[in-house]
Amino acid sequence: MTTLKRIVLASRPDGTPTEDNFRLEEVAMPAPAEGEVLVRVEYMSLDPYMRGRMDDTKSYAAPVPVGGTMEGGGVGEVIASNSDILAVGDKVFGMLGWASHAIQPAKMLRKLDPSHGPLTAALGVLGMPGFTGWYGLTELGRPKAGETLVVAAATGPVGSMVGQLAKQAGLRTVGIAGGPEKCAMATETFGFDACLDHRAYDSARNLRAALKEVCPDGIDIYYENVGGKVLEAVMPLMNPHGRIPVCGMISWYNAGGLGAGATSETLTAPALWRNILVKFLSVNGFIISNHFDRYPEFLTNVAPLVAKGEIAFVEDIAEGLENAPAAFLSMLRGGNKGKQIVKVS
Ligand code: NDP
Repeated sequence: MTTLKRIVLASRPDGTPTEDNFRLEEVAMPAPAEGEVLVRVEYMSLDPYMRGRMDDTKSYAAPVPVGGTMEGGGVGEVIASNSDILAVGDKVFGMLGWASHAIQPAKMLRKLDPSHGPLTAALGVLGMPGFTGWYGLTELGRPKAGETLVVAAATGPVGSMVGQLAKQAGLRTVGIAGGPEKCAMATETFGFDACLDHRAYDSARNLRAALKEVCPDGIDIYYENVGGKVLEAVMPLMNPHGRIPVCGMISWYNAGGLGAGATSETLTAPALWRNILVKFLSVNGFIISNHFDRYPEFLTNVAPLVAKGEIAFVEDIAEGLENAPAAFLSMLRGGNKGKQIVKVS
């Protein structure tokens, strides 16, 4: 093997990205320097945050440079080692990028525990997205038995973790997902008490009326993944002292600067602030990379539940690195059924 394949950012998108914004390249295989290892990537993760990395706007993380390898988490096998921390044959997780192989300092990689299920679990249910759902719900949602929780993108790795943990804590759980098939997955696989198809409602008002029926006691926790129509529908239904962990707002990611996208005819800034004020809401934004000190605690708590089948997970695995851009664009539109992964080798 003398070359590796990688997908680079060919150009920055103007609004919704297309496959033209990516380019597949083949370059010479580097050798690991002192303290580094060479990893053959087996599976890579596709996550909504990668959309933000394509824009050159000020954010919590630096953008991917044009011509740079797309960033992302991956799992694979160490095939050459110049470090005594990791040996050839070790299975590891790291920020390996959209590539067939990656050179990384061994100390930046996490050796995977085979008792934690398939390698792909480290990208979804027991990886960053599952951890995000656990942290946002338990730390910021502060769930109490008997309360009602609403979460959209309910069948994705974040939403499905939130829904299942909330259900286990004794809450009524209401999912919102795109299409009847995903709604069936939400109730049948992830145990949501009800699920609404956001595509079936042409306005926030109509979605709100439907939500009111399935949340007869109002909403105590709205775990925010999407913004847009769902946020507008939910806000007036929040109960006093409700909690809103603000995790993501995917409906606005292609809006060309979140400020410009975050406008609405029905939920104006004054209406939003008034809801927060008069209902004493706790609205907490968070970025999970600031909380990785809690990751071991998450694994200790949740890995046994996954092993026992008490937390279900669904993965959607695309084949081949060259198909990563199409799978990524599809995921942003809701084309994924469960955690979106790419099988690289
Ligand atoms: P998913 O696998 O659930 O994929 C994204 C989903 O978003 C799509 O499948 C689609 O689901 C939904 N979606 C897309 N557009 C819209 C829209 N206009 N309205 C409603 N739903 C839409 O993603 P994840 O579980 O990985 O991530 C969920 C959220 O969590 C994202 O916003 C992500 O950015 C955020 N996140 C935040 C982190 C943090 O540190 N704060 C860390 C990790 C994730 P459907 O078809 O069901 O509508």
